[in-house]
Amino acid sequence: MRFWHRPRSVRVSLTLWYVGAMIVVLGVYATGVFIFVSQSVSRALDSRLRTDFQWASEMWERRPDGTLSWFEGEPGINEEAGPWLQVWNPSGNLLFRTGVAYEHPVPDSDRLATEASGQIISVPTEQTSFRVLSGPSRLGDESVIIQVARSEEPMRREINHLMLMLALGLPLGVAAAGLGGYSLASRALKPLGRMAERAQEITAERLSDRLPVDNPKDELGRLALVFNETLGRLESSFEQMRRFTADVSHELRTPLTAIRNVGEVGLRVRRTDAEYRELIGSMLEEVDRLACLVDQLLAFSRAETGQAKLTLEPIDLAELARNVSGHLGVLAEEKMQSVTVEASGVPGCVGDRLTLRQALINLVDNAIKYSPAGSQIRIHVSQSPHGARIDVRDSGPGIAEETRARIFERFYRVGDSSFEDRGGAGLGLSIAKWAVEANGGHLTLEEAGSSGSTFRIALPNPAR
Ligand code: ADP
Repeated sequence: MRFWHRPRSVRVSLTLWYVGAMIVVLGVYATGVFIFVSQSVSRALDSRLRTDFQWASEMWERRPDGTLSWFEGEPGINEEAGPWLQVWNPSGNLLFRTGVAYEHPVPDSDRLATEASGQIISVPTEQTSFRVLSGPSRLGDESVIIQVARSEEPMRREINHLMLMLALGLPLGVAAAGLGGYSLASRALKPLGRMAERAQEITAERLSDRLPVDNPKDELGRLALVFNETLGRLESSFEQMRRFTADVSHELRTPLTAIRNVGEVGLRVRRTDAEYRELIGSMLEEVDRLACLVDQLLAFSRAETGQAKLTLEPIDLAELARNVSGHLGVLAEEKMQSVTVEASGVPGCVGDRLTLRQALINLVDNAIKYSPAGSQIRIHVSQSPHGARIDVRDSGPGIAEETRARIFERFYRVGDSSFEDRGGAGLGLSIAKWAVEANGGHLTLEEAGSSGSTFRIALPNPAR
């Protein structure tokens, strides 16, 4: 039994369904034809019997000796023989019968004659059945009972022929439908086979390959197009992953090489305690950068795999900005910069404080890094009917037009701002962007002219 549950080829399944449907349709059709033809043949026999009765009540004559006679030319029991006719008087005595009636007696005909119901009654005999019609009539002044009969044999033969034809035709029709269905299914599924072969050849190294699309408008064509689009997305994420791995390895290598170099230089000659202290200090600085980079990478991988857990709570954005400014104050002081916070109204939002703080730290950190010593960095927090905004404005060199679109990409750094020079790995803005978007907001570069850059965090109003 389990065999029937096993998946078989779509081609075979389709053919089986098709054959099944054909069996049902042809079966219903054949049954309909059979019922219709049998009923009409039966009705035709009844109507011939009534014509016989009519004929018998009109085509009689009385011979000179007083006996009755009928013209026996009409067909009856079979096409050659004469009619089957019996005439009775009302008291049940037989007055006349044709030769055919004599040769083929119908059982119970005397009882049926006495009843003279005028109904057509089927009387079975050993060989066949008879349809008998007995009814009262008048022959001149005399009341008689006329009884006519016809064999059902020709009718049954006709019905049997029909049955034979249907019984032979049905399997032939089903077989033809099966063959037709199979070849149709094979033709329709041929492109699928080609697609499967090509798909099998596509590996991670050959993601640029595409499936053949015979007709982009039919179902298989659309499937191939969708599959090709998926391959396209897969190819670009593989490419991104490759780039990411290469970038990460490169970024980790730089501080490691620096630590190694410093170590090697330190060991080359004997040095004073102060010199060793300085060397260890610069090694620790590199270690700090390395730790910072690893932290950022971890934040990224959590964001990518959706593991970063956000705790939503009402946040006072002015307080958050002051907190960040205090946190980065030491860095700004080193460059003799000032970080000011201005707040209009009571700006607030509902979000995850930690991720939003990280985003703001990255923006303010960049502003400090890329602005000249002694300049001013302004954080402006405001509330509008559409939501809250945090603008971070600096007096740095701005960002060249052609690079503005790329600064939010991972590991993207503009021109000469290398890791060693500025201490960034090109991850700050992409992390900030992810953090803001995770809170339902948008991070945009509003201004980047030569007088400084302005980054804007726009956060939606809390849903009511
Ligand atoms: P990084 O860690 O190198 O700072 P980011 O993703 O934070 O990386 O920034 C990407 C690039 O965008 C930086 O290399 C820098 O050239 C540019 N950039 C970011 N913020 C500023 C800014 N406030 N002023 C000028 N350039 C900036």
